[in-house]
Amino acid sequence: MSAVPLPPAVLSAPPLRWTNRFAALGGSFYTALPAQGVPDPHWVAVSEACAADLGLPPDWWQREEWQALQVFSGNALWPGMQPLASAYSGHQFGVWAGQLGDGRALWLGEVDGPSGPRELQLKGSGLTPYSRMGDGRAVLRSSIREFLCSEAMHSLGVPTTRALCVTASPLPVRRESIEGAAVCTRVAESFIRFGHFEHFTHTAQDHEALRRLADFVIDAYYPECRDAPLPHAALLENVARRTAELMAHWQAIGFCHGVMNTDNMSILGLTIDYGPFGFLDAFDPGHICNHSDHQGRYAFARQPSVAFWNLHALAQGLLPLFDDGDQALEALEPYKTVFPQALQSRMRAKLGLAVERDGDTALIDGLLKRLAADRTDYTIAFRRLAQFSSADGAGNHAVRDLFVDRDAFDAWALQYRERLRAENSDDTQRAAAMNRVNPKFILRNHLAQEAIHRAQSGDFGEVQRLLKVLGRPFDEQPEHEAYADFPPDWAQHIEVSCSS
Ligand code: AMP
Ligand code: MG
Repeated sequence: MSAVPLPPAVLSAPPLRWTNRFAALGGSFYTALPAQGVPDPHWVAVSEACAADLGLPPDWWQREEWQALQVFSGNALWPGMQPLASAYSGHQFGVWAGQLGDGRALWLGEVDGPSGPRELQLKGSGLTPYSRMGDGRAVLRSSIREFLCSEAMHSLGVPTTRALCVTASPLPVRRESIEGAAVCTRVAESFIRFGHFEHFTHTAQDHEALRRLADFVIDAYYPECRDAPLPHAALLENVARRTAELMAHWQAIGFCHGVMNTDNMSILGLTIDYGPFGFLDAFDPGHICNHSDHQGRYAFARQPSVAFWNLHALAQGLLPLFDDGDQALEALEPYKTVFPQALQSRMRAKLGLAVERDGDTALIDGLLKRLAADRTDYTIAFRRLAQFSSADGAGNHAVRDLFVDRDAFDAWALQYRERLRAENSDDTQRAAAMNRVNPKFILRNHLAQEAIHRAQSGDFGEVQRLLKVLGRPFDEQPEHEAYADFPPDWAQHIEVSCSS
């Protein structure tokens, strides 16, 4: 099937103001080109929350539905949009991969929204000069996963790129089998990756462009670095700090990214490029969510050290801007303290500990050890722990029953009770605080799978329903109790790989 031509109608501009700062960097950074359209596009899902964040009023969205469908399928442009594919490189699975770039993503422009400037990007909109062996397309299954998880992570309070909508088309796309094409529209303050910096140092060997990129990132996103004695060192340090915070978020929430290549690392410390990700069901530090990751390089427990490795790759990419390498290495040092502190603070909150005390690390590790030994469901265990009573003789059956080795749990529970008493913890207040940080609803693989299954036969209701449930992850939603349940047995056999 060939691409459809642009519709003849002249599109009226939506009420958006375009700023397009990345496009102003010039031709060394990207190739300007239009999207390749798709035949007969239709809607799969829209995130009204994301639309509101851009400043699109809900009534506008409905009024201009046809226009929006064409634009977000890659069949048309609104005035002010400046489509382009950016050039980047990167390390994949620890090995230098050379030039990569937006092989199937297309930057549409930057909107000055009510929450600040936001870039819009199509994913799956056809070939670009960076497509290499790929077809520039994305399939429905992976687009639904990215859409739902981006919005779910945002609602969980985890820094992330967001997703505005998904459209689909009968255009056939070849993966392991023939699937339907889809386009996911992503939204972020910036889509710049570590790999953009590596590109200008190692691939293009254009240090002037490297400097312009670094200065652009400082001016646009890290203005606090501008007046530092060494602005580029300050930039690297701030990226290291944000990355450390992101890793603490992931580890505390039980999120496994799956492909932490340097081209999938955001310069703003956002979760980016949702592929074979997964939330932990049973707690297993060695969990590998990516079926293609045979060595387990990106296993759950390794994520924080992989992020530090990736920061070293970024430091190397920035090296031409430093007088000596030690300055770059020094800028990474804070990661070693920021990450463990941020993680401990998140884990203390998950246990409902209001203050920091000696022995907290051992108490947290003791629980994680029990969870791992019994392969207890991570999300359900923390949610139930909120109901823990510190009263004498309390059975605490709801949480205790999750463990196989009850004696071992009882021994831990005794320490926990003493620790709660030591800070005069009030059970009711603590439960409320814990329920604000321990989600009840997460995007488990089997939930995504069910929504995808139905979408593949033309029923998109489940995608929209899941989006709504995951939009309030910390609230009790009695009518949606089933979404908070243990995964079914078949969930263990879901295989998610890089093929998307
Ligand atoms: P990923 O593993 O999805 O982060 O992709 C790594 C690189 O491969 C990036 O440069 C992508 O743009 C590119 N890529 C992945 N899938 C495709 C595809 N179907 N067509 C073209 N490029 C792709
Ligand atoms: Mg990627």
